Amino acid sequence: MTVLSPTAVSAVLDRLGLSDDNPGAFDGAWIDTRGPRLDSLNPATGEPIASVRTCSAADYDRVAAASVAAFDAWRHWPAPKRGEVVRLLGDELRRHKEDLGLLVTLEVGKVRTEGLGEVQEMIDMADFAVGLSRQLYGLSMHSERPRHRMYEQWHPLGTVGVITAFNFPVAVWAWNAMLAAVCGDATLWKPSQHAPLTALAVTKIAERVLAAAGAPAIFNLVFGDRNAVGIPMVKDARVPLISATGSVAMGKQIARDLSDRLGRSILELGGNNGIVVTDDADLDLALRAVLFAAVGTAGQRCTTTRRLFLQKGIAAEMKRRLVRAYGTIRIGDPAEPSTVMGPLIHANAVRDFRHALEIAVQQGGRILHGGKVLDRPGFFVEPTLVEALPHMPITCEETFAPILYLFEFETLDEAIAMHNAVPQGLSSAIFTLDLRSAEKFLSVAGSDCGIANVNIGTSGAEIGGAFGGEKETGGGREAGSDAWKAYMRRQTCTLNYGTDLPLAQGVHFDL
Ligand code: NAD
Repeated sequence: MTVLSPTAVSAVLDRLGLSDDNPGAFDGAWIDTRGPRLDSLNPATGEPIASVRTCSAADYDRVAAASVAAFDAWRHWPAPKRGEVVRLLGDELRRHKEDLGLLVTLEVGKVRTEGLGEVQEMIDMADFAVGLSRQLYGLSMHSERPRHRMYEQWHPLGTVGVITAFNFPVAVWAWNAMLAAVCGDATLWKPSQHAPLTALAVTKIAERVLAAAGAPAIFNLVFGDRNAVGIPMVKDARVPLISATGSVAMGKQIARDLSDRLGRSILELGGNNGIVVTDDADLDLALRAVLFAAVGTAGQRCTTTRRLFLQKGIAAEMKRRLVRAYGTIRIGDPAEPSTVMGPLIHANAVRDFRHALEIAVQQGGRILHGGKVLDRPGFFVEPTLVEALPHMPITCEETFAPILYLFEFETLDEAIAMHNAVPQGLSSAIFTLDLRSAEKFLSVAGSDCGIANVNIGTSGAEIGGAFGGEKETGGGREAGSDAWKAYMRRQTCTLNYGTDLPLAQGVHFDL
């Protein structure tokens, strides 16, 4: 049972244009897809919300062809005009923020404020992309040859395949789709099988905006499993760029398939993020940051803090505070505004949580708090603290659940070495009031991650910075800074306005 009555849920679905049985593909029209029906479950109850029909391989093929045709038309729109369409989309998302945020809560179990935050992230990306639509700058260079002009320019790339994970069911689409749209690309979205309804709702909003603006249908959707949709998309030479968010295993498979056709990729894969707390840190600040980063979204963020490194002088105090704070976390229905931690996404995630803890204990870990699965409908577990030994193999893996491993260290060098000794490299943080420690953590000898913070936790990035990580996290960058360049093709142009034909590097070729 959730605080939302079935009538309230139906009303949200109605307002977002969703029915009990939704078609799973959009290519300018909603296609009566022929794959099996899949129920989208509410993880807080385990009950279905509504169902969506998946795509067959033939459905995928049809949508991909339409997406390429939409790109052919869209690329001729001037970039600022494309930006105007994205501005209208941002406005429409603002109007639907409440309902979309609630749908995120219903479908993936994020607490209310995080569901709304996810929609806000889409809106922020729209605003960012609108400004960018007038700033797709190229460079000009001085040619070594007289009366020659050299410059580089950026052209639209094509249809971008966007594969998203369940835990950011719409924000990650926006990171890609808003940039791709102003860059002149179409997008072909394969949402997670656990979050089709939010994807459908957003695509319906985008459909209306495009139609009202007289724009081609550049925001396409293909819902289906990896065999019918995911793998065909990755292997499809009509799709020059695949932007894929998900587990490391998925990223490795995609990288292998893409390499066969030398396709481009943006890979946003798993993290195993750590926070270092030194003896001089502001412990109040550190505690609040660790709680949000380790427990928020029930430990199901790519940037979730999974490893905490405590300097010996404050370790006992910090552990005491953490255990006390973990005991006060309100776990429950994510639609209830006072809830801090909702459910895991599905039964397999609960199984992975249990399994990881069994292994941690076998490898010498000691559970300080939590460790249990809650005896209630839905997929709820306790946020868990584990005292860990250095080099416990399980702590090098990403278990997508609220398990925080606690380590102790003596020197900052030791902490940085332990911190970097995992295959993933997404987000990292240090809590210290010492300038030298902070700068060391950010230096070339410090954190090896794509994101490094001081006195801020590992999760909750702003869209203005390029987001992504190193090592097995995949190396991709999305959202702000110059991430847009991945969605365009660069062309270097040299123009001779003289009457001679001098060759570069002083080479002569006289006949
Ligand atoms: P997942 O890997 O199970 O699935 C992600 C998506 O990939 C789904 O849409 C799935 O259908 C698709 N997929 C899987 N195998 C595929 C293949 N071979 N070809 C094409 N598509 C394929 O991940 P999940 O459980 O949905 O999400 C959790 C994972 O995502 C975690 O590892 C998390 O760290 C990661 N994640 C990373 C970021 C980031 O920005 N680095 C952001 C969010 C989530």
